[in-house]
Amino acid sequence: MRDETCIFCKIANGEIPAAAIYEDEQFRVILDLGPASKGHALILPKNHFTDLTDLDEETSSKVLALAAKVGTAMKKSLGCAGFNLVQNNGEAAGQTVFHFHMHVIPRYEGGPRMVSWEPGSPSKEELAGLADCIKKELK
Ligand code: AMP
Ligand code: ZN
Repeated sequence: MRDETCIFCKIANGEIPAAAIYEDEQFRVILDLGPASKGHALILPKNHFTDLTDLDEETSSKVLALAAKVGTAMKKSLGCAGFNLVQNNGEAAGQTVFHFHMHVIPRYEGGPRMVSWEPGSPSKEELAGLADCIKKELK
């Protein structure tokens, strides 16, 4: 379950040093080298999964609880008022490292706007058509 060419496999398994804040049997949590805010962390599974669609059940069942734990620790230790979870899947979505990771981004009162978008204004018909289109694949 390792990819010898993957930098996050090496970091998650302690072969490349990183500022680690948490470790258990399945995960290592490190600070991002290019943080969006002070304390920005990355949750890395020790096994290699390309993205969310590739995760095994055991890992996916644990990652959200770990994100909550990390976010709660950030609020207590750093005094952030909240945090965002960001998880990019695919190049078009901004993924640059193809080993599943979950960003935990502390947000501070008065901090810069981020993780936001200009809301669209689709018609009811357009929304209904899109809902039909996606629903078919979810059955
Ligand atoms: P993504 O764009 O979702 O694939 O995020 C990749 C993240 O990994 C970026 O926020 C990078 O700053 C971060 N990153 C890349 N290499 C390292 C590294 N060696 N140590 C810590 N963070 C890294
Ligand atoms: Zn990997």
